[in-house]
Amino acid sequence: MIEDSFNDKFSSDFKIIAGPCAIENEETTYKVANCLKKMGLKYIRGGAFKPRTSPKSFQGLGERGLKILKNAAKENDLITVSEIMDPRNVDMACEYLDIIQIGARNMHNYPLLKEVGKTDKIILLKRGFGATIEEWIQASEYIRLEGNESIILCERGIRTFEPQMRNTLDIAGVSYLKKHYGYNVILDPSHGTGKRELIEPMIYVAMALNCEGVMIEIHPEPEKALSDGEQSLSLEQFEKIVGRVREKMKKPLMNKPLR
Ligand code: PEP
Ligand code: MN
Repeated sequence: MIEDSFNDKFSSDFKIIAGPCAIENEETTYKVANCLKKMGLKYIRGGAFKPRTSPKSFQGLGERGLKILKNAAKENDLITVSEIMDPRNVDMACEYLDIIQIGARNMHNYPLLKEVGKTDKIILLKRGFGATIEEWIQASEYIRLEGNESIILCERGIRTFEPQMRNTLDIAGVSYLKKHYGYNVILDPSHGTGKRELIEPMIYVAMALNCEGVMIEIHPEPEKALSDGEQSLSLEQFEKIVGRVREKMKKPLMNKPLR
């Protein structure tokens, strides 16, 4: 069964998927890709089709962005992740991507879910920011029923009355999913909090929840990023955090007596 082998493979270690919010140009993409390779990481993200609130904001480079992402990934032996919004772009995207991301705004885009369900790609399905857990699961069923069982669910925060954070990361919801279903679940603390200083603690939360990994936005110069710079980590900050995460993972889970 595809599901078993995919689930076994995917849940065998903790994944850190990282990259810029948007593919902006070759230079930043290669800087990020080289950095990931140097750190021994395997997954690069970057949006080429950006779902922006304002139609006047940077919309992404489209297919040219996917090309840049694929080339940078190929040179650095990385797996590519990027969002597709339009069902008509799915065939084209398959040439460039290993993992197709369905963004929060498109969790309810059923023609898109059906179309990616016909591919043999891994699908990363983000939770809609107004969607219940049940609606999220049912959205994943649209993909599964077309024959594609390689699905990763990504919690990226929901809208609540709390204005301090960009979104509210529903960690109890993720815990519920992990306890009651066999799904692969990752956390996106970048969109889930909107604050770069909260990303490291949320990585430890993801590990505690038994998640398969995290997705994080990074940029060589966050202050110049064309989107989501305020929540993106610089490459230096990211390297330090991953170093600490690796240290923590090495520690045995044991309470030694102090004396
Ligand atoms: C993204 O990952 O860049 C993105 C747009 O995320 P979301 O769909 O969760 O808002
Ligand atoms: Mn973003």
